Amino acid sequence: MPSHLPGAAPLANDFVLRAPDYRPGDAAVHTRDAVRLCSNENPYGDAQRLRELWSRAADLHIGHYPDNGYPALHQALARLHGLAPDHVLVGNGSSELLTLVARAYLGPGRTAVRSSDSFALFSVVSRLVGAEVAEVPSVRYGHDAGALAAASARAQVLFIDNPCNPTGRYLPAAEVEALLRATPRSVLVVVDEAYAEYVTAPDYGSCTGLVGEFPNLLIVRTLSKAYGLAGLRVGYCIGSPAVLRMLERLRPPFSVNSFAAQVALAALADQRFVADCRTRNEAERRRIESHPRVAACLAAPGCANFVFLHSPHAARLHARLKEHGVHVLAFPDAPSYLRVTVGTREENQRFLDAFEAAARDLDRPHTRHPEHKEQP
Ligand SMILES: *Cc1c(COP(=O)(O)O)cnc(C)c1O
Repeated sequence: MPSHLPGAAPLANDFVLRAPDYRPGDAAVHTRDAVRLCSNENPYGDAQRLRELWSRAADLHIGHYPDNGYPALHQALARLHGLAPDHVLVGNGSSELLTLVARAYLGPGRTAVRSSDSFALFSVVSRLVGAEVAEVPSVRYGHDAGALAAASARAQVLFIDNPCNPTGRYLPAAEVEALLRATPRSVLVVVDEAYAEYVTAPDYGSCTGLVGEFPNLLIVRTLSKAYGLAGLRVGYCIGSPAVLRMLERLRPPFSVNSFAAQVALAALADQRFVADCRTRNEAERRRIESHPRVAACLAAPGCANFVFLHSPHAARLHARLKEHGVHVLAFPDAPSYLRVTVGTREENQRFLDAFEAAARDLDRPHTRHPEHKEQP
């Protein structure tokens, strides 16, 4: 374009200009020695796992587009949850499905409800389409089911992450059901169960069994966590065919690529891997939580593949851990909290050793910390 033409730089629309950025964990940490405990990834989803899954996957013609109906994947997911295939829809990670929910059911003049301590992406996707976000204060880091139901009376979408990221709290199955009964049927209730496969608490339950009774219920699941496929980008949702049709209409064609679809199919058939990850994760999470230094700043007991810590020294602990090559998640808007992903036993030990060293340092009254450099 000729540079002498008048006009400022292109201006994005107001919703995009004003929306908050979504900050995923420390993306820079892909080096060999770094211990990545900042993004709730599955530490067992490595190259060997991929080779195993791929060797079990059928052949693939990468010159062809995928079948946009993903019949095999929808069949497998429906079978897994004991539902008909028209109750399931796959997407490019559950993030894509949350975006589609916002585009279909929110917009200017519409409102989404979420808990104050819930998944940040719920706000981002809602604000990006011009919707208001009503935040219901969390209680002891968990959802206040009664207040959420009350607030949803004036909203179109209610977002609930169960378990909750980043706090690790969960709503027992009976409370989710009570919440659904107390919420108007005109409100789409989105239950994000990204960590469901990890939870062993007996009173927890997925609400996949309730989709028949509640046509306004949409459950969002992912293969990014317990299935160990975060890099592949496959998620799915379970809900009434009427809701799924709206989401499907908005989904870009072929948004799940052929390779991802094939590997996902093999991963779904390997439930032993998921069970194994659950067992290992549970043992390791308990080991981390019971370490005295960690126990002293555990904000709330976890139930998924991460622990949630509270400390007035969180920022310094975060920096010290980083010096030790251990990357955990800090929250710019809540600087006294940290979220630490449960890794392999070795990774967790590196975290515990670094955390012990950092905490011991902070106990010493006259230690100089790098952040305490004098201002010029
Ligand atoms: C990690 C996570 C997801 C997964 O997102 P994908 O796009 O499927 O990788 C979804 N919801 C919550 C609450 C999460 O923590």
